Amino acid sequence: MPPKVKGLLIVVTGPSAVGKGTICDALRQEAPDVKWSVSCTTRSARPGEVHGREYFFISHEEFQRRIGAGELLEWAQVYQNFYGTPRQYVDEMIDAGYNMILDIDMQGARRVREMYPGSVFVFVIPPSMEALRQRIVGRGTETDEAVQIRLQQAPKWIEEGLQYDYVIINDDLSSAVRHLRSIIQAEKSRTTRQGGALIRQLLEKGELDSHD
Ligand code: ADP
Repeated sequence: MPPKVKGLLIVVTGPSAVGKGTICDALRQEAPDVKWSVSCTTRSARPGEVHGREYFFISHEEFQRRIGAGELLEWAQVYQNFYGTPRQYVDEMIDAGYNMILDIDMQGARRVREMYPGSVFVFVIPPSMEALRQRIVGRGTETDEAVQIRLQQAPKWIEEGLQYDYVIINDDLSSAVRHLRSIIQAEKSRTTRQGGALIRQLLEKGELDSHD
């Protein structure tokens, strides 16, 4: 195991249906050091979604209670519904040295930036606006009206990406996943993070326990 240092908080954002969830799902299949948090939401479950796996599906009242009690690391309203990240689990995982991925929207990302300044902010863009349109429609979860709203708002959202640390194009999925992995590896290697811990261990013990 590498020396115990705090894990990274990696925020992955981008316009709706660009493929954030798909990229994060693929990454977590192959990267045991990466954890993700299950968000809570007031939206209804889509067919096939399981409470506690994709989301914790909770009522508006319970959501407001959690905000009031400070139990959410970030939360955001997207159209009619609320989405939020439970704070305790994220803090515990980071303290244990795991890299946490948050697949959240831009409102939530702004809140994380304020509360966890050391986080890494990754923005996902589509190869074209047409590809984004096809993904929104192809996912088949929105009404025609919701598709139109998402498309109209896409340029404004994409412009927000200029404030992020990194940009990934989600064209070929496996390239996008590789790209995200390399960002995580580069960030971990910083001397202010695991890089520095490795140097200290080498100096103290004369060798490294094990390393990747
Ligand atoms: P988001 O989490 O950003 O809202 P999803 O992960 O739900 O988006 O993906 C939206 C749709 O786009 C899904 O139907 C998914 O299968 C598709 N998709 C994701 N990545 C790609 C890709 N690289 N190429 C083609 N389609 C993709």
